[in-house]
This record gives sequence, C-alpha cells and structure tokens, in this order.
Amino acid sequence: MSADTLLEETLIKRSQQKRLTSPLNYKERVFVLTKTKLTYYEFRVEKRFKKGSIDLQKVRCVEIVKNDGVLPCQNKYPFQVVYDTSTLYVFAPSYESRRIWVQNIKEEIRDNSVIVAKFHPQFWMEGVWLCCRQAEKLAPGCEEYNLFGDLSRKLLPPIPGEEGTGRSRRPPPPPPPSRTQPDDGSGVEEVVIALYDFHGTEPHDLTMTKGGQYVILEKCDINWYKARNIYGKEGYIPSNYVTDKKLGNLEQYAWYSKRVNRNKAEELLRTEDKEGGFMVRDSSKPGAYTVSLYTKSAGEGGAAIRHYHIKETSGCPRQFYLAEKHLFTLIPDLIEYHNHNAAGLVARLRYPVGKERSAPSTAGFSYEKWEINPCELTFMKELGCGQFGVVRLGKWRAQHKVAIKAIREGAMYEEDFIEEAKVMMRLTHPKLVQLYGVCTHQRPIYIVTEFMGLGCLLNYVRQRRDTFSLGSLLSICQDVSEGMEHLEAHGFIHRDLAARNCLVNDALVVKVSDFGMARYVLDDQYTSSSGGKFPVKWSPPEVFNFCKYSSKSDVWSFGVLMWEVFTEGKMPFEHNPNHKVVMMVLEGHRLYRPKKATPNIYDIMLRCWHERAEERPSFSQISILISDALEVDGSSSA
Ligand code: ADP
Repeated sequence: MSADTLLEETLIKRSQQKRLTSPLNYKERVFVLTKTKLTYYEFRVEKRFKKGSIDLQKVRCVEIVKNDGVLPCQNKYPFQVVYDTSTLYVFAPSYESRRIWVQNIKEEIRDNSVIVAKFHPQFWMEGVWLCCRQAEKLAPGCEEYNLFGDLSRKLLPPIPGEEGTGRSRRPPPPPPPSRTQPDDGSGVEEVVIALYDFHGTEPHDLTMTKGGQYVILEKCDINWYKARNIYGKEGYIPSNYVTDKKLGNLEQYAWYSKRVNRNKAEELLRTEDKEGGFMVRDSSKPGAYTVSLYTKSAGEGGAAIRHYHIKETSGCPRQFYLAEKHLFTLIPDLIEYHNHNAAGLVARLRYPVGKERSAPSTAGFSYEKWEINPCELTFMKELGCGQFGVVRLGKWRAQHKVAIKAIREGAMYEEDFIEEAKVMMRLTHPKLVQLYGVCTHQRPIYIVTEFMGLGCLLNYVRQRRDTFSLGSLLSICQDVSEGMEHLEAHGFIHRDLAARNCLVNDALVVKVSDFGMARYVLDDQYTSSSGGKFPVKWSPPEVFNFCKYSSKSDVWSFGVLMWEVFTEGKMPFEHNPNHKVVMMVLEGHRLYRPKKATPNIYDIMLRCWHERAEERPSFSQISILISDALEVDGSSSA
C-alpha cells in the first residue's frame, strides 16, 4: 500500500463494456482510493494490472444502490460512482465496507462543482433505470441527491468566524424516506409469493404452491433461492417462480399482465368474452400502466374494448386515477374501487383476465444441476435435424417434455461447448429457449432443452401464410426482440439470429434458440464467411468482411428476421448467391419493403440495417419501437 492510499480492498465491479461475449460481467478487482483517484486493478500472483481509473474531480455522485432484486455476484452491498456520463457499479462484501467506501469518496468529492442535483437510487439494468423505469441511460435522476446523507454522524467543518466556539453547523436533515423497502442489511425478512406451483425434483428442493408465502433465506445465484415455507421446511426454489410480497408490487395480482401489448390484450379479452373482463398491463410508455376493459353492451348491442391510461397526479405523494376525483396512492386500491364502481368507465372492473400463466422454464432442473443422467431420459419422435445432428422429443423422469439434441461425432467443439453450457444455462428468460442440461459422460453427448411444440419460426410463418394480422406479425417480432434484449443486457452475442433459429411453442410464444452455438460448429462451410453455409444474407458488412460480431451485428440480423416474418417466410435476396449479396449490401442496397409492413414498420428494419453498427438501435430501443408500432398499427387487421 503506498503512502497516499486512503483505502484499499478487493471488491467486485460490474462491467461497463457493452461488447462482452460472456454473461460473467462481475469481476474481482483491487480498488484503491487516493486523494485524487479511484483506481482498480486485476490481481494476479504477486503482480497487479491497472484496469481503470477515475479522476475524483470528475465524480458527480457516489451513493449506495438500493436493490430489491437478486445480485448475480457474491458481494451483496452495491454502490455507484457516477462520473462524466458513466456509472460504475461496485459491490462490497459487507454493509460496513460499503459505508466506509461511500463515506470516504464522498469526503473527497465534496468540493466538486459537477455534483448532481438528482440521481438514480437503483440500477440501470436491461435498458431501464429500475427506480423510475426511464429507458434512456442519460435520463435525469429521479431522487434528490444528498452528498452528506451518509455523513450525518460526522461533524461538518466549522462555519467561518465560529471556529473555536464549540458550536458546529447542524447536519442537513436526513434524506426523505424512500418509497422502496429497506435494502439488504436491514434485517427485514424478505417474503415472496409463489406465482406458480413448483414440484421440486431433487431432495434439496422446496415444493411450492401457487399463492403460498415463502421467506427467502439466501439468494444463491440469479436463478435459485433458498427459501422456507410456513411449516419451517427449507429448500431451493426457482427465482422466476416467485414475486415480492411488498406493497405496490403488481405481479402478485391476477389482473396484472406485465408484457401484454394492446393487440394481445384485446385477443385475450375477446376470447374470455366476459362482461367487465379487464387486465392491467404495461403501457408502451415506460413506467406507465393501461387498463384494458371489455364490455358486451357497447351501444348498438356490440361488444367493445376500451383502453384507459392510469394517470398520475404531479404532486407529492403522487396519486393514481382512472376517472377524475377518485385518487389512490396504490394501484391495487384503485382497481378495488373500480371493481365496485364504474365511475366514468364503460363498465365495472368485474372479471380479471390474465395471460395464461403457464409456469416458465427453470434454469436447469434444480440448483447447480447441469449434468443430466441419460437413464432418466426417454426418447420419442424425431423433431428435426440440424447442423449438429438429430433432435428428438423426449421426457425427463417420465414427465417433463424436453427436446434432446444428439451431437453427431465431429460436428462440434465439444469441450468448449461443455464449458460454456453452464453459463448458457443461467440465461433464463420467457423469450429464450431454455437449456436444461447436458449429458456429457457418453458419446454422442446430448443437449437437453425446452420443448417447443410448433417447431421453427420459419416453417411456422410459411405454413400459416395469409392468416396473420399485422398485430400478430408484430407480436412475433416483439417476442424475439425481448429475448434478444436479455442476451444484449448480459453481453451475450447470438451470432446466427434468423427465423430458422427461433422456435414457437403451443401457446404461440416465439423464443430465440441456438444462441452462441455458432462458435462450436466444426464445419468450414458454415464458419468461414466465404463458405456456402455462412449466413451472409443475415450478416452486416462488418461481419462478412471482418467477422466483427457484436450485439449490433445481432441487430442487423434481427432486421432481416423481421423481413422474413413480414414476408411470411420468403428467402432474403431470393436466389442471389452470397457473393452477389455482399456486393449489393456494400453498394447500399437493402431488402425491399414487404407488402404487409407499413412504412413505420419498414423504418424499424431500415434502422437495423444502418451501415455503421453504432448507429443501429439497441434491442431495448427496438422493443419500444415495436410496442409503439403495435399501438399505432397493431389493432388494424392486415
Ligand atoms: P442444429 O442446432 O443442430 O442446427 P436445430 O436447433 O436447428 O439444430 O434443430 C433442427 C430442427 O429440430 C429445428 O428446425 C426444429 O424443427 C427441431 N427442434 C430443434 N429444437 C427444438 C425444440 N427445442 N423443440 C422443438 N423442436 C425443435
């Protein structure tokens, strides 16, 4: 430790880079604070490598990060350092360690002229600020910043002229209590509610019943928690099967459907066909909610659907309302009120309609279980055959339907894949085909994934040509974009996104499949950009010229996938050979506007095909563009 070191400790840092090929974005670094700099080093045997340094004069805010989600690393006490236009997230091993770091940095930056007036108390994650749901990284902060918040117990410097009098300036008042629950370290037990039944598969799992309450004992990783039921039994549960019980969390209510757009909401309400059928869903405007309401008796005897934005008052505390004069602090109270009183709505909110709540996939069958015993698999019909070999429908332990891919000898860099499989298993999202596990102790090795009853997206749209509404085509693209948003947020690049690599399940949900698998293909024709099987028609110039893959190259491929969807399965650039497509794209030629795509929708595709990667939108921006298109064009039939 050098003489001018104020603090030194090994902490964990969340990666700030956008282009990462692995979701392992949390790295141990030795942090050193001096009077002028916060520097972090990678530590290798007896030697450390400087990885980055922040000039303290440029620091605009340092504060703890409030967090009520799971932290994907072992240090559970996050804090943030905002400087220039970036935010560095650092994870301390204890409450005390974090307090010391935050307090010491605050001390060093107290005279900075660039201190923010407002900041974001929670993380920037997956394209939004978790505190205020703003989707712009540079969006202004949503909570007043109190540079002296953590220093209140410490005497501030004496007021000039009053030195030696023994009086000191009173510390500023503490910051207002936050609307969120106390974060970790507060000693408050975290109680969750099960959204689905969960039948544990291993003795160390805890079986759950939908609607039951459980206390979280440990967040083992992002996908699995250790929990206790009301009888005191403990075990592992999948994190995506539960939701926080705290006030204001809408996910615990049957009427809330987070990711349902206007088009899907109308479809669900019509199918139920119940007077006063309703649902609350996220609006296309981030952070806002919409109530969609169905009535059978709208004037001329016909049924109608109305969409009402839940409005907010601007005062403090903010209040919610659907009809003027009936204000509520919490949305559930507002829904309860309109359950009994139409009060300006076309009907009472009588009958909650949920999206079908079939249980989602878990990240593997149990905590830390990726090796599957092949004796527990039964093989059924053949589903298809791909680059790696034959895919069969099967069952695990005679009850869970799965797809089993038997890897043909010589088709894959197996060792590399097996290593990466553990990482890929942790990628869990409703719009990604889940990897459940692998059988690697025999040849051929098996890859076991979620079963998708309606097969690949390309055949799905081809076989149902001319049956899709504009809204359904957009919904397909939205599903894919949401899955890709998750990969993008975890720095994971797909490398071969196309309609043939997406699958459709029996509930018509489209999911992205085969992500990252291109790296393990052992076939020159597929991996070399001049090879016959290389997906040139889905690739941007930087990929077919320099093999420069990134989330933005996935965005280009997504544009082509949108084109495949809107042409209902045509081959991009038709019969043109790959070398000709390369020439055409380099000359600025782009795929034409499909007949079913409005100019607005085609504009999204064109933005994905921007020559310069950095000008292309991110997947989180694409999801918003598609939601907007669904609001504008989605309800009209094609
Ligand atoms: P590969 O990765 O070897 O190229 P694919 O993943 O393309 O193989 O699979 C080949 C075909 O098998 C797909 O087109 C699809 O019809 C079928 N298939 C693959 N995975 C699944 C699955 N999880 N559920 C249902 N069908 C699948």
